[in-house]
Amino acid sequence: MENQAFTGPMFIGKGLEFVKEGYVVVENGKIIDCGEGRISGAKKHSIIPAFVNAHTHIADYFLREKCLGMTLEAACAKRGVKNNCLSCASDDAIIDGMKSAIFEMIRTGTCCFNDFREGGIAGISLLKKALLYFKYKGMRAKIFGRPLYFGENFIDDCDGYGMRSIKAEKIKMRLGRSLGIHVCESKHGELEKALEFKPDFLVHMNSATLEELRKAASLNMPIIICPRSNAYFGLKPADIPAMLEEGIDLSLGTDNAMTNTVSMPSEMEYAYRANMKNVSAKDILKMGTVNPAKLFGWNCGSIEKGKDANIILMEDNFLKTHDPYATAVLRLQAQKLEIMFGGKFVHYY
Ligand SMILES: [Zn+2]
Repeated sequence: MENQAFTGPMFIGKGLEFVKEGYVVVENGKIIDCGEGRISGAKKHSIIPAFVNAHTHIADYFLREKCLGMTLEAACAKRGVKNNCLSCASDDAIIDGMKSAIFEMIRTGTCCFNDFREGGIAGISLLKKALLYFKYKGMRAKIFGRPLYFGENFIDDCDGYGMRSIKAEKIKMRLGRSLGIHVCESKHGELEKALEFKPDFLVHMNSATLEELRKAASLNMPIIICPRSNAYFGLKPADIPAMLEEGIDLSLGTDNAMTNTVSMPSEMEYAYRANMKNVSAKDILKMGTVNPAKLFGWNCGSIEKGKDANIILMEDNFLKTHDPYATAVLRLQAQKLEIMFGGKFVHYY
C-alpha cells in the first residue's frame, strides 16, 4: 500500500513537543515515520493527534436539554429523569441518539471513547449495535457496563464496570476488567468508601477536599474530570491546578451527552479558559490525547512511530502562532478539520 506524507507545524511524541516544521508518514494505518524537518512534495498541514474522550454516556443523547435547569440529583439519580426516560424509550430512539453522538465525535476529532453504559447487558448491546455503523470509520469504544439488577452477570459482555456511585452494590469482579467510579461529584467525603471497591480510575473528584486529592495522588489513581458537566449542574469546579500540583494523571471527558456535546475541542477550551492563569494549554491538550490513550490502552493519542495513524489535519497556518498549544486548545472548533483514523480519511469538514 502506498504511503501518505504530511508536513507542517505539529506536536510530536508523548510530550507533545511542538515543531515548526515536522513530518509524518503513514502506511497501512500506522505512523511509520515522523520527526522534525520537511519532506518535499508532502501535503502541508498543521497536525495534532486525534482525541480520546475519557468519559461519556452517549445513550442519553436523545434527551438533549431535557434536564436543563435541574439538579444533578433530579437529572441523574437512580430514579431521576434520565434513568426513567431511558427505561421507557425504544431501542431505536436510543440507538439513533448514540449514532448522532458518535458522528459528533468523529466530526470533532475523537477517535476513541470510553462510555459508561446503563441498562445491563441489554444496554451494552444497544451501544454495540450503534458502534457497528462506524466500524468502517475506525471509531472505537470501550464499554463500562453496570448490572441492570443485582447479580446480573454483565461483565463478560463489556470492557469493565462503570459504577454509578459509591452507593452501588459490591459485586464480585472478574479480574482483568477495569473498574471506574463516579466519586465526589456533588459532595466531598466519598473517596474512602470508593477505594473499598479497588477502582482503577475515578471520575469527577471536583468536590473532593485537598486531603482526598492527596490520598488519590498517593495511590497513583488516575482521575477523569468533566468540567462542562460540573458547570451545567452548578457544582464546584474541579481544582485542576491542585490536581496537577499533586501529580495526578488527569484526563478529560464530556460526560452525559444530554447535557454537553461530545466535542473534545469544546471540553478542552472550557477547561483551559476556566484555569488560564494557573494551568498550561499543553497540560490541557495532554488531558485530551496522551493521558486518556495511556489510561485506556489505546495505541494513539500522540504522533509517534508505530502508533495508529489517528490524526487531525488543518490548514498549514493554523499552528503558526505565538503559542501553538493555546491555539490548539482555544481555536480548534472554528477550524476546518480533516480527520484521519487508522490511515483513512473519515471526515472532511
Ligand atoms: Zn458520568
